[in-house]
Amino acid sequence: VQLERVDITKLATDSTRAFREAYHREVRCDASGPIWAISDESKLKQLLFILLDNARKYSEDAIEVKLESQGEQCRIRIVDTGIGMRQEDLEKVFDRFYQVDVSRTRSGSASGSGLGLSLAKELAGAVGAQIELTSTEGVGTEACIILPRSKSDSRGNSLS
Ligand code: ATP
Repeated sequence: VQLERVDITKLATDSTRAFREAYHREVRCDASGPIWAISDESKLKQLLFILLDNARKYSEDAIEVKLESQGEQCRIRIVDTGIGMRQEDLEKVFDRFYQVDVSRTRSGSASGSGLGLSLAKELAGAVGAQIELTSTEGVGTEACIILPRSKSDSRGNSLS
């Protein structure tokens, strides 16, 4: 994968708008100025989509997307106030096909295949990102995409 400078503020704003229109779900995005990360735009979009889609499936209220830049890193945090997960499940959800008991979801039906987060982890690995999940059962879940920040704000080929 050829990594490039990606403005995660624009990426998150565009993605949340598309998501809102497609699913008629409230998704707030606290975007202000550009934040440049080193990543791959289309893979990062796919990754964000998987995490937004999980937030949508396992919660009912508004989803929040928060952007932060801090030192050498920047973060995209996807926060839901849904059913959450138990700690023992959190350790397994990145495994292929792993699903927490599907009967606990709102619809009670098997939504998906249990592949989303394992794919998310592969995408993250391919673009030099990390994913951190924190969750409390009955309270909600936060998924955080951690990316290296692009130090140079000017256009150019230097990605260091
Ligand atoms: P799909 O393959 O369509 O993504 P899936 O959502 O079941 O299906 P994963 O995205 O891999 O698969 O998620 C694995 C399991 O982790 C889910 O079945 C669900 O139980 C749990 N999970 C993931 N995200 C959340 C969330 N935001 N809140 C609560 N549980 C979640």
